[in-house]
Amino acid sequence: MLKKTKILIIGNGFGGITALKNLRKVFRGDKTIEFSLIGEKNYFLFTPLLHEVATGGINPMNIVEPIRKIFGHCLKNFYLGKAEKINFKDKTVQVNEIVVSYDYLVIAPGAETNFFGTPGAKENCFTLKSIEDAIKIKSHATMQMEHASLVQDSIKRKEILKFVVVGGGPTGVELVAEMEELVRETFSHYYRKEVVDDVSIVLVQRGGELVPQFGAKIRKKSLQVLQEKGIEVMLDSAVKEVGASYVIINDNTKIATDTVIWVGGIKPASLDFTEPVNLSPDGKLIVNEHLQLENHKEVFAIGDMALFKDKDSALPALAQVAEKEAKMVARNIKSLIDGTSLQSFSYHSSGNLMSLGQWMAVGEIGNFSFSGHLAWWFWRTVYLSKLISLRKKVRVAVDWTMNIFSPRDISRL
Ligand SMILES: Cc1cc2nc3c(=O)[nH]c(=O)nc-3n(C[C@H](O)[C@H](O)[C@H](O)COP(=O)(O)OP(=O)(O)OC[C@H]3O[C@@H](n4cnc5c(N)ncnc54)[C@H](O)[C@@H]3O)c2cc1C
Repeated sequence: MLKKTKILIIGNGFGGITALKNLRKVFRGDKTIEFSLIGEKNYFLFTPLLHEVATGGINPMNIVEPIRKIFGHCLKNFYLGKAEKINFKDKTVQVNEIVVSYDYLVIAPGAETNFFGTPGAKENCFTLKSIEDAIKIKSHATMQMEHASLVQDSIKRKEILKFVVVGGGPTGVELVAEMEELVRETFSHYYRKEVVDDVSIVLVQRGGELVPQFGAKIRKKSLQVLQEKGIEVMLDSAVKEVGASYVIINDNTKIATDTVIWVGGIKPASLDFTEPVNLSPDGKLIVNEHLQLENHKEVFAIGDMALFKDKDSALPALAQVAEKEAKMVARNIKSLIDGTSLQSFSYHSSGNLMSLGQWMAVGEIGNFSFSGHLAWWFWRTVYLSKLISLRKKVRVAVDWTMNIFSPRDISRL
């Protein structure tokens, strides 16, 4: 029987799915190659729109795509579960009770929330990494409104309705902008004015500016837009402690709140290796110019889990980085198998976009930055085009259109 070359991918996010799609392309029709995928969930999650699920703007089902829908019956070996132990010597990965062997391995499990050891943060904060997280945030916000609407004391109501978001990167900024939209366009439709007036949104940012990964113009614009929306932005403010009904900032300011959403950082997903691996201080797998592990050339790492140094600086944790690395890995695995020379990876950003609520977005392509209504249309068009299936593109477009004409759905799931 023909011995097959086994290519195994860990992770079914931006990196893993793009790697598999491109591997199938470069090995089209080659019956000697066998692909396997390990994924914790049976779907792909389009994270860039999670904040809109968390604020009721998009139905949760519309930003996920079943793996089986993406690959159909062509994907014979899909292991649903968490890759637990990676054994480079035996070339195996353990998932649940199954041991899966490989000849080439692509590691793309992404990242998880990093609380940086802040006391009480893990226990008391909401996070925004999964669809469940987003549903929880929306349900909680709605429950806080219900709860507050029965409270007569305005001081108590203000505490119940104070929403604190920790982290002034793009996710935090997009989230607070959408939260304000939810309050203004939807809660104001369903709840008494005095209740809605007691809602406040606070964004806590450790550094002196929001979205430091963007250029100066965008950083300034983001702050201005959020402040105009009435969002309190606390700069140079690191969170020191989080409790069930409070958050303490480094200058000892104590904010009474039932709601702290932590989008203040990520760390690479935890994987268990049977031998020591070359990790960066923050736990990423260090890869060479071909995106391989230096001591295991048949193993590649991409996306949020990998540290590829581009002119000495690390690449940002972005979907486009994971996708570009995945495409390169597919080509390099083909070259390894064919015995041809591998290509070196270099990253060229396609630009960055960020929404700031209805009708407002900012963007940067090279040195050119833009903002406003057109940027917002551009943002929506780009993100719609990035959703995988036509069905989900249409559904998200319908959700967005409905939001313009009617309040969002605040059913508690
Ligand atoms: C709320 C939010 C908004 C974002 N917005 C943007 C944006 O607007 N633009 C942008 O470019 N980027 C954005 N990002 C960042 C982007 O999502 C990541 O950079 C990108 O997903 C990284 O791709 P990845 O393949 O490394 O990881 P992921 O896409 O996270 O995929 C990893 C997958 O592996 C699975 N997994 C984890 N551990 C295991 C395991 N042990 N075994 C098997 N499977 C495992 C996970 O469940 C997940 O499905 C956002 C992220 C978040 C959380």
